[in-house]
Amino acid sequence: MDAVAEIKRRIEIADYVGRSVTLRKSGRNFRGLCPFHTEKTPSFYVFTDRGTWRCFGSCGEGGDLFSFVQKRENVEFPEALRLLAREAGVELSARGAERRGRAELLGGIVSAAVDFYQQALAGEGGAAAREYLAATRGLSAETVAQFRLGWAPDEWRALHDHLIGRGYRAEDAVAAGVLAAGEGGGAPYDRFRGRVVIPIADERGRCVGLGGRILGSGEPKYLNSPQTELFDKGRTLYGLDATGPAARESGEIVVVEGYLDVIGPWQAGFRNLAATMGTSLTEGHAAVLRRFARRIVLAMDPDSAGLAAAERAGGLFLDLSSPGAMGASQRSAEAVAARAELDLRVAPLPAGMDPDDLARTAPDAWREAIARAAPFAQFLVDRLLPAERPESPAEAFRILERRLAPVLREVRNPIERAALVQRIARRLGVAERVIGERLRAGQRAMARPVAKAEPARATAEERLLATLLRHPDLRADLRAYPLPGLFPDALQRAIAERWLHDELDAAGEDAGESDPVGDRVRQLRDRREPLLSATDARRRALDLMEYLLRERLIQHHSAGAEGLAEAERELGAPRVLEAAYQAWLGESPSAEMLELAHAAIEQLQLGLSIHRRERAAS
Ligand SMILES: [Zn+2]
Repeated sequence: MDAVAEIKRRIEIADYVGRSVTLRKSGRNFRGLCPFHTEKTPSFYVFTDRGTWRCFGSCGEGGDLFSFVQKRENVEFPEALRLLAREAGVELSARGAERRGRAELLGGIVSAAVDFYQQALAGEGGAAAREYLAATRGLSAETVAQFRLGWAPDEWRALHDHLIGRGYRAEDAVAAGVLAAGEGGGAPYDRFRGRVVIPIADERGRCVGLGGRILGSGEPKYLNSPQTELFDKGRTLYGLDATGPAARESGEIVVVEGYLDVIGPWQAGFRNLAATMGTSLTEGHAAVLRRFARRIVLAMDPDSAGLAAAERAGGLFLDLSSPGAMGASQRSAEAVAARAELDLRVAPLPAGMDPDDLARTAPDAWREAIARAAPFAQFLVDRLLPAERPESPAEAFRILERRLAPVLREVRNPIERAALVQRIARRLGVAERVIGERLRAGQRAMARPVAKAEPARATAEERLLATLLRHPDLRADLRAYPLPGLFPDALQRAIAERWLHDELDAAGEDAGESDPVGDRVRQLRDRREPLLSATDARRRALDLMEYLLRERLIQHHSAGAEGLAEAERELGAPRVLEAAYQAWLGESPSAEMLELAHAAIEQLQLGLSIHRRERAAS
């Protein structure tokens, strides 16, 4: 991103465009004949303060410096970036290249370790591990191969020596998380020893880390490679590389806690599971999950640790964790409501069963548990309700207000909320109506505005892109609109274009040294955006497009008005108006006045058009 900004800082857009287009000053801006269509009246503007250009004539093209080069030289964004970087003398994202190269190196090391451990499992020393996987875990050879399971020999330098022998540096292997740094500057050694090794891939299938389970007794039972430049535990979901397609197809992902809880059910035919890396569900996870499915079922071991994790996970979506969030402003309430549209559910499993046991020994019970998963709020309410009916109404209200109200108030779906109130009324022995009154009274008391850090407000362009990225189904609908032209920013336009052509998964893969498009797409995808139904998403996209069009009209209007005002100062307003009137009648004012006359007419028409759009919008 820095290179793009730096290039724009160094190259003055009017100078650059001016080399191939004759520009004349018009107010604060420049105006000339559009290089992208044939015209006699200049309707091509360069806005120096914004660093953008636009043709208000028949081609309607516009953009920034980069889009100008793309259009002029007929190249894609990465090529325009290279051209302009050379021109501006900007070193092209050496950091990006370095980062990329580094990620490749570390990924290569993890892959080499995976190969090594797979070989070890197949070898003589792997007999006990093979036996464990087959007999204790009941995993077939196909499953073991599918998940590339391996065996780390119980030695201190086996992997170390292997990697050094293949030309890797020990310090890089430490950075990749497969070796541990020796204490007090001692020599690095194998992090995984005497363990079954489970390769951890990101959702694209790139190896980023390793998990290890000890064979016999010993602590810790499970060991993960540490957080590294490559392995972000707050984003990685184990198994998604294998289970993503099935999750997409079923619209549902079951989130479990351990890798073996993904692998076992996989073998039993349940292929839409993913596991967190021993952490609770984070926003990063949610951003990844949403790309695959909307119904998220947390299948948790019923032990207390698992349930605590589920509650923490829910804090993400319903924001029950922080006290400040409880009395949130109307705005964040809306966001919460929209966020709740992500169908987050909890399936508490029968006592003593983890997903692996249940899916394999009682597949019907597993299916049943997932199908009957409770909405998250209901799950919380059930947890918060006392086992026994309270002894007095006062006690019931205390429970309602201190424990249940904070959850209930966050439930935005009125039907779901009514159902919960009914449930609570029965359990507490209080009338539904009274619960409703208590909640409303509490809500008023909490409605006072709460000081809250506002996230940087997204521009309309960003919001539109985020909506598009989240709703690829809109593509068919929006194909007819000149969508990319709405984005003056070349990066944004490149994203819109690739979105239209369904090329985003390849975004930037071939960009070589840097991938600003891919980076921006990831940022946009990770934005917190309201989750919308297909209909609402379409509405939102069209509203934002309409808004951007109106903005452009206003921009055109004021750009033209500036030039016109200057002419009026020079020639006198009556002369300009007279010429406009002549032109409008179909007569020909003098050649020198013709352009001004058309500009004046255009201004009037634009003004009317903006006025109409504004009326329609309000
Ligand atoms: Zn044009």
